[in-house]
Amino acid sequence: ATKPISIVLPEGFNQRATDRICKEFDPVILKRPDPELVPAEKREEIRGMAAWLDPAWIPLIDALPNLEIVSNFGVGYDPESSLHAIGKGIPVTHTPSVLDEEVADTALALLLNTVRELYFAEEWLRGGKWKNEGNYRLTPLTLRERTVGIYGLGRIGKAIARRIEAFGLMVHYHNRNPDPEAGYKYHDSLASLAAAVDTLIVVAPGTPSTRHTVNADILKALGPEGVLVNIGRGTVVDEAALIRALADKTIAAAGLDVFEDEPHVPADLIAMRNVCLLPHVGSASVHTRGKMGDLVADNLVSWFTQGKAITPVPEARDIARRREN
Ligand code: NDP
Repeated sequence: ATKPISIVLPEGFNQRATDRICKEFDPVILKRPDPELVPAEKREEIRGMAAWLDPAWIPLIDALPNLEIVSNFGVGYDPESSLHAIGKGIPVTHTPSVLDEEVADTALALLLNTVRELYFAEEWLRGGKWKNEGNYRLTPLTLRERTVGIYGLGRIGKAIARRIEAFGLMVHYHNRNPDPEAGYKYHDSLASLAAAVDTLIVVAPGTPSTRHTVNADILKALGPEGVLVNIGRGTVVDEAALIRALADKTIAAAGLDVFEDEPHVPADLIAMRNVCLLPHVGSASVHTRGKMGDLVADNLVSWFTQGKAITPVPEARDIARRREN
C-alpha cells in the first residue's frame, strides 16, 4: 500500500473533519501553528493542512516546503494569511453554502431577541418575577413596520432576506455590485442604504474594504428607532462608535454575534440592556458544523485524488487545479 499523505490537523479541530482526516490521511496533530512542533522528518512530507487560518499560521505555511493546499474551516477567511498562501501558489479553500440557512436562522433569532427582549423576558420568568411582580414590560421596540437593510447580500444575506420577506417586511441592500436577480432595492452606498432603513443587518465579510464602514454617521442615519444586527464580522463595525451610539440613544438597540476582538467583549456592551450578545454562534449546531467539517475533508480528498479543490476561496480559483507534471 502507498503511504498515506501527511496533513496538518489542529488539536481540537471540528470532530467530523478530524475523524475523516484521521481515517483518510496521516494526521500531524498540532497544539499551535508553530513550526517547532513539527518533527523535522515530517516537514517535507506534509502536503496538506486543515486550519482556521489567521496571521499566526504564516510561519508554519512558510516552514512546509511541499505544502499544496490549505483547507480552511468556515466561510469567512482571514485575508492576510490566505493571500499569503495563495501568493505562494497554494490554494486555500473554505466552506460556503452549507451554513447559509443556519446562519440566517441565527440572524433572525438575534434580531427578534433584540427588539422583543426575549432573553430578558425569560430571565424575568426564571427569576420568579412573573409570579411575584407581574407581567414583563411591553417592549418599546417591535419588528412590525420596520424596513430592513442588508449589508452584504451574498449567499447568507439572501437566506436572511427570504426570511425577512416572510416576516412581511421590506428588504433593501448594499453590495459593491447590484444583483439583478435579487429583486430587492439596491443602494450603491452604505450611507444611502442606512438613510433608507431603520434596521441594518451586517453580513459582509471582514476585509480591508469593509473595515469600520459601519461608523458613527451610518448609525446616526438609522435614527433613534434604529437597530443594528451584526452576524458578519466584528471588524466591519466601529465598536467604539457603536457603544457611543447605544449609550446616547442615537440608535435604539443592537444584536451582535461577532466582535472586534473575540472573545473579548467590551464591558460597556455587557452592561447595556438594549443589546443582545451572542458568542459567535451563527453556524454553531452539530448538524451544520458537521457539514462544514465534511467539506473541509472533501476538499483535501478531492485535491489529492481528483487534482482539484471543490470550494476554493475566490482569490484561489485560478490555482485550484493541480499542475500536472
Ligand atoms: P458571500 O461572498 O456570498 O457574500 C458576501 C456579500 O458581501 C457579497 O454580496 C458582496 O457583494 C458583499 N460585499 C463584500 N465586500 C463588500 C464591500 N466592500 N462593500 C459592500 N459589499 C461587500 O459570503 P457569505 O454570504 O457566504 O458570507 C458572508 C460573511 O458572513 C462571511 O464572510 C463571514 O464573515 C460571515 N459569517 C459569519 C458567521 C457567524 O457565525 N456569525 C458564519 C458564517 C459567515 P459584492 O462583491 O458585490 O460587494
